[in-house]
Amino acid sequence: MTRMNPLLERNEQFARTYTPAALGPPAAQLIAVTCLDHRVDPAIVLGLRLGDAPVIRNAGGRVTPAVIDDIAYLAFLAGQLFGDQLEDGRLFEVAVIHHTQCGTSLLADPGFRHQAAEATGLNEAALEAAAVADPHITVKADVERLLTSPLLAPTVSVSGHVYDIATGRVTTEIDARYPGA
Ligand SMILES: [Zn+2]
Repeated sequence: MTRMNPLLERNEQFARTYTPAALGPPAAQLIAVTCLDHRVDPAIVLGLRLGDAPVIRNAGGRVTPAVIDDIAYLAFLAGQLFGDQLEDGRLFEVAVIHHTQCGTSLLADPGFRHQAAEATGLNEAALEAAAVADPHITVKADVERLLTSPLLAPTVSVSGHVYDIATGRVTTEIDARYPGA
C-alpha cells in the first residue's frame, strides 16, 4: 500500500490525453524559485504548463548556494542546447517568488528556532537565515544575492515577486535586472 494510489489514478487520467513536450528552451523563458509550501504551487498559481519553466523549490524559496548551483548549471545547459536559438544570447529570467504566511516565518522567533535546532540537529544560524518573516524584505535580499553571485551567467536576469496567500495575487517587487546593470 502506498498513499500514492489515489494520485496514480489521477496520473492515469493525465496520461490518457498526454502529449510529450518537445525538448526546447523553457517556453516562458523563465526559471521560478519558490517555496515548497503546498499552497503556493507555481503550476497552479502561475498557470505553468509542461515545458514552460523549470521550477526550483525549497523551504521559503530562498536563494541558497544549492539554488545558485542549479541555476548556474541550467544556464550552461541552456547555452549548450539552445544558445543558437536565442535572441541576443539572452538565456532566461530567474523569478524569485516569496510568499506571505510562510512556515519558515516561525523561525524568526528565537525560542522556536532554538527548539527546532535542538530537535532536528539543524544549524540554528542557518535556520535564522532561512526565515521568511516579511517576504517583501527577503525577496529583495535574495534577488541581490543572486545578482551578486560570481556563478550567475551574464545572460541571466533576475526579478523578485511576492505571492499573497490571502488574495492569490502575485505582485512584482523588483523588475528583471542583469548582473552588473
Ligand atoms: Zn513558505
